[in-house]
Amino acid sequence: MSDTPDPRDLHTDTLAIRWAQLRTDEMSHSDPIFLTSSFVYDSAAQAAARFSGEEPGNVYSRFTNPTVRSFEQRLAAMEGGESCVALASGMAAISSTFFTLLAPGDHVISSRSVFGTTNVIYDRYLKKFNIDTTLVDLNDLDQWRAAIRPETKLLYLETPSNPLSEVGDIEALAKLAHDNGALLIVDNCFCTPALQKPLELGADLVIHSATKYLDGQGRCLGGAVVGPEEILKEIHGFVRSAGPCMSPFNAWVFLKGLETLGLRMKAHSENALQLAQWLEQQPGIARVHYAGLDSHPQKALAERQQKAFGAVIAIEVEDSDGRRDRQAAWRFIDATRLLSITANLGDVKSTVTHPATTTHGRVAEEEKQRSGIGENLIRIAVGLEDVGDLKNDLGLGITALGFE
Ligand SMILES: *Cc1c(COP(=O)(O)O)cnc(C)c1O
Repeated sequence: MSDTPDPRDLHTDTLAIRWAQLRTDEMSHSDPIFLTSSFVYDSAAQAAARFSGEEPGNVYSRFTNPTVRSFEQRLAAMEGGESCVALASGMAAISSTFFTLLAPGDHVISSRSVFGTTNVIYDRYLKKFNIDTTLVDLNDLDQWRAAIRPETKLLYLETPSNPLSEVGDIEALAKLAHDNGALLIVDNCFCTPALQKPLELGADLVIHSATKYLDGQGRCLGGAVVGPEEILKEIHGFVRSAGPCMSPFNAWVFLKGLETLGLRMKAHSENALQLAQWLEQQPGIARVHYAGLDSHPQKALAERQQKAFGAVIAIEVEDSDGRRDRQAAWRFIDATRLLSITANLGDVKSTVTHPATTTHGRVAEEEKQRSGIGENLIRIAVGLEDVGDLKNDLGLGITALGFE
């Protein structure tokens, strides 16, 4: 391409297909994959210039690889960010960001509704370095405000939350962070840039588990951080030394995944909205949590900051004898034939999960109650199968609750 267009002039769906496309001398139309650990030089002098950073270029795939770079540049453009660093997994992205930005004595405020393993980082690893974390309710701004301390460095959230679809006000939380000299970090795994762009709403950094919708077909683990170059170069420095880099093969799979992201997120959201509306009408379903429903208290906020509502629904079941317990939930889950019983999500295959005994199994009873993770709660991550077939499959669960 001679004249490269400005990414700000292109739609996210176009960037997902066209941005930072790799070409070799063979001019392949599909992106080539650079499956190599190291690179060679024309001369000893060039090797020295590359290593010192005097001459830009590839050195070693722990910190420079063309396929990984292509994925980073494409995702950065899609999120509207200056720069991106790709990592081995979502957790590598989260932990590398924390370990780069935090020092002993610092303080973090986080939504209590974050990915379970993120909580393990707070409890077991940040604590070890004398970094304290305060957990607050995602949608209660007063709690965030009250938790601010002079040493608060980061505010951290996922929106919409997993599994209850609570929505955090990114704009308001960015303002709160900035008024107090802190940064706002948003894990955008559930929406992806196809549905939500936290940087445009004032967030400083966006985190991804590429393992989920960026891949979209459950093949590879990966993660990413997107934001200003000034911060990302520090995180890149950490990755260069600590080593949690993304494999070039995985980067190539994610590049292919990104090409269909917009279409998939739209279809996931349409299927999920139809199922959520249908589930609300069914016997044995005491409550449906999904930000796209009129019954959701933060539907207006979700509409303001998201293009659609995503794929994750949570339901509370009640059997025909009025029991809202683990047995009822497990009977419902075990009666389905099509849905995969797994804790994963972000796949074209629909999945069904019992959070209280899996994803949130290690969470203390009191904390579970506080977060609304009841024994009768079931999470459904809606895939791209025909929605009629999904209704029929969930219908088997409803029959198992004792309803016709
Ligand atoms: C899965 C997930 C992670 C962790 O990502 P991995 O790729 O499994 O390490 C982080 N945040 C959210 C919201 C997730 O769903």
